[in-house]
Amino acid sequence: MSAGELPVRDDLRGKAPYGAPQLPEAIQLNVNENPHPPSPRLIADLQRAVGEAAATLNRYPDREAVELRGELADYLAVQTGVPLELEQVWAANGSNEVLQQVLQAFGGPGRVAMGFEPSYSMHPLLAAGTNTGWVAVPRLADFTLTAELAVDALQLHRPDVVFITTPNNPTGTLTPLDVIAAVCESAPGIVVVDEAYGEFSAQPSAVRLLERFPRLLVSRTMSKAFAMAGTRLGYLAASSEVVDVLRLVRLPYHLSALTQVAARTALAHTGELLGTVQAVKEQRDRIVREIEGLGLTVVPTEANFLLFGPFDEPAKTWQALLDRGVLVRDVSSGPGLAGWLRVNAGTEPETTAFLDALKEIV
Ligand SMILES: *Cc1c(COP(=O)(O)O)cnc(C)c1O
Repeated sequence: MSAGELPVRDDLRGKAPYGAPQLPEAIQLNVNENPHPPSPRLIADLQRAVGEAAATLNRYPDREAVELRGELADYLAVQTGVPLELEQVWAANGSNEVLQQVLQAFGGPGRVAMGFEPSYSMHPLLAAGTNTGWVAVPRLADFTLTAELAVDALQLHRPDVVFITTPNNPTGTLTPLDVIAAVCESAPGIVVVDEAYGEFSAQPSAVRLLERFPRLLVSRTMSKAFAMAGTRLGYLAASSEVVDVLRLVRLPYHLSALTQVAARTALAHTGELLGTVQAVKEQRDRIVREIEGLGLTVVPTEANFLLFGPFDEPAKTWQALLDRGVLVRDVSSGPGLAGWLRVNAGTEPETTAFLDALKEIV
């Protein structure tokens, strides 16, 4: 039976799944992970904590993940300087699940979500999966966003949900807080600020605007700066009323006991985990300098990755890098991204391998 014969929803026919290549034998610089693995001390603590949790795996986990959410609230409060209650924090299996729940609750059939592209390719895919309409508004040529551009688009399309990713993936560009505030003022529905790369940037978090704007949601993740992508833990800060609505669509016991305990153990090692951020940024800045030295262009970035190019045949450059053992992201088929490739900072040796390979090619 071919997939074409299955009685799949009409709106999913012909769509491609999210599919960044996973090639463990290559130097993987294509999904913006933190390249630093957990320390032996953290690994030992994880083993102990997971071992203790194993003793009660016959029971369902805490459905409300109260302790984890409280610790995430404390972490965010320190990070952003804004006091937060656990009732204002929600967590799920990666911020992708958080965003899916947001669209299940605030999007859906007959409703529309909007994004400023190029941006994170999962936002329109999550919209498709929840049968939410999608409006793509182009960013300016330098991939930034002004209040005027955003407010005009909001007035034209009146979306139920609008996404702003800052620092933006895959461009690395920031959206200033005053632009986000202007969006919150004119958005008719929910505003989601996706701060997956927030810890890499010096810009204050949109969490600072929560008190002023009750329909603002700020999503974050432990997958990037926090170096815990394998744990699958994302979260958001919002009003407690928003969190109560998300409870209507979450699956019961969606966060496993093992996930909760691993995330809490990682949070207890915050200093050590975020201690890698500076090293990552140094490698990123090194990539910027050396790529520019090759006569290529780099888009100014506040994240752990960058766009570089432009290439006449980006797919060929991507393949030539892979032939030399380095996996980067070919984003060139995305909206407004013709000619560009994306790479994230690795460890120093990984970054060296990437730069050496690139020098051979260009
Ligand atoms: C990586 C990324 C995420 C994180 O996804 P998780 O499900 O938390 O791993 C969310 N938003 C953006 C823009 C990202 O780049």
